[in-house]
Amino acid sequence: MISGTIIKGIGGFYYVDTGEHVYECRARGRFRKDKIIPLVGDIVDIEINDSSKQGYILNIHERRNQLQRPLVANIDQVIIVFAIKRPDINIGLLEKFLVYSEYVGVNVVVCLNKIDLDENNEVQPIIDMLSSVPYDYICTSSLKNIGIDELKNKLKGKVSVFAGPSGAGKSSLLNSISPGLSLKTGDLSRKTERGTHTTRHAELIKLISGGMVVDTPGFTSFDLVDIKEEELQYLFPEFQKHVNCRYPSCMHYKEPECGVKKALEKGNINPMRYEHYIQMLCDLMKNRRY
Ligand code: GDP
Ligand code: ZN
Repeated sequence: MISGTIIKGIGGFYYVDTGEHVYECRARGRFRKDKIIPLVGDIVDIEINDSSKQGYILNIHERRNQLQRPLVANIDQVIIVFAIKRPDINIGLLEKFLVYSEYVGVNVVVCLNKIDLDENNEVQPIIDMLSSVPYDYICTSSLKNIGIDELKNKLKGKVSVFAGPSGAGKSSLLNSISPGLSLKTGDLSRKTERGTHTTRHAELIKLISGGMVVDTPGFTSFDLVDIKEEELQYLFPEFQKHVNCRYPSCMHYKEPECGVKKALEKGNINPMRYEHYIQMLCDLMKNRRY
């Protein structure tokens, strides 16, 4: 028995990369009784038929995490791509992506793309915000080849998914780091037109420079509906060391003697982060189901 990673799944066949070989496998193990379906990214134990070089999946290792869009398991990091311009960066949406990644439990690298268009250094307040939180970030341009080597370095030895709004430049970045991919790029209408004819299955692509990426960009937008109001503050990791509030149930909003608000006044919490925390909290309260 050997182990490997499922890199592709089509029509009941799973392609398992053991590092030396890619084996075509079918599912046969006990996990089928539990109705667990193998996913791309799963680490599996397989048994190989020596003559046919085909195999059976006997066991799926426990998943570290699982994304819904794309449907993949065991992701090391999400590369959140936003264009500085065209389309203009929506910082509220960027904050939502950060909160969601924290909720799913994956590391993030924020990629501020199309930096070639930022003639007046409008990126600076966003960099200030990102410097105040425990997330990695880089500035890139696939057009001018800025930050691409740095991005490749961040992908080394990891399994990554690209996420971010449509038009941010995700496909272009994936093409620059792995020219063999030839993903379609361009405006939305052209892409959706092409997209209707084919069903896309996520696939893991090995990068020559090291690491693996999911070949299809992930979530582009979402609602934070599953998150509870009192849970939200824990998805802002930098708030935690300031939570010495008078009320144990403090949500750092209208309550008096709040440690988080004090830290904000002292400049120890970034105002943009706090503002978006309140905005998300109010949205959750508004949509509360009684
Ligand atoms: P996606 O929807 O996130 O996959 O975005 P695409 O990769 O399809 O890019 C959307 C548009 O932005 C395309 O017209 C690209 O040519 C353009 N674009 C992508 N990267 C850059 C960049 O670094 N600089 C500039 N100026 N334009 C870019
Ligand atoms: Zn508080």
